[in-house]
Amino acid sequence: MDNLWIASLDPADRRRLQPHLQERVFTQGQILYDAGEAVDAVWFPLTGVVSLMTLLPEDRMVETAAIGREGLVGVTCGPMNGRASSRAIAQLEGSAACCSADVFADALSRSESMRMALARFTEGLFAQVQQTAACNARHRLDERLARWLLTLHDRAGSNRFHLTQSDIAGMLGVRRATVSEVGSDLESRGLIKRGRGWVEVLDRDALEQASCGCYELMRGVMKDLRLPRPVPVGH
Ligand SMILES: [Zn+2]
Repeated sequence: MDNLWIASLDPADRRRLQPHLQERVFTQGQILYDAGEAVDAVWFPLTGVVSLMTLLPEDRMVETAAIGREGLVGVTCGPMNGRASSRAIAQLEGSAACCSADVFADALSRSESMRMALARFTEGLFAQVQQTAACNARHRLDERLARWLLTLHDRAGSNRFHLTQSDIAGMLGVRRATVSEVGSDLESRGLIKRGRGWVEVLDRDALEQASCGCYELMRGVMKDLRLPRPVPVGH
């Protein structure tokens, strides 16, 4: 498995990074870095999904973006303070090619084309964060759940993935009982199947129909920005 963002770079840029990359695995629920921490590594996922979580003052968190093999994790901190503005947590276990933040900054300083590739990625990420905020505020929970499952399905490399009701509730910022209710509705319509600690996508096309327009809109933004787009297994 490749990281699609690295694969999309110019050959000279790839050669600049490759000698410094080391594979690291992450387990589900592992915090790669927390809000307020200095970020000392950049992660390029090969498998799995990392969620960026924003902390609310009442000690709850909600997901604002999900990143898989199409992107990189560790560049959401501003250059002014070098500290992360959100928590990065492994949503689905996987592995990533990693390099130190210094190595990445050095490679960027030497390459205009890499800076452009990063600018496109961060523009796409910003669009995702905005879309998620609007979606959380306005769209129905069943539509949001369908959107979120599609985002994971694109990146999971499998139709079935490890996920508990609590994971889903935490990501969407709602109660577990509410997620369970909405999940059983999607299940009764034959879109997904749920088991103890896992979810399986049964009917991808119907799940797209059931989601709000935000999923399709984000795919369009990534296309416009010429960003690599992950596709679900078998597509
Ligand atoms: Zn939406």
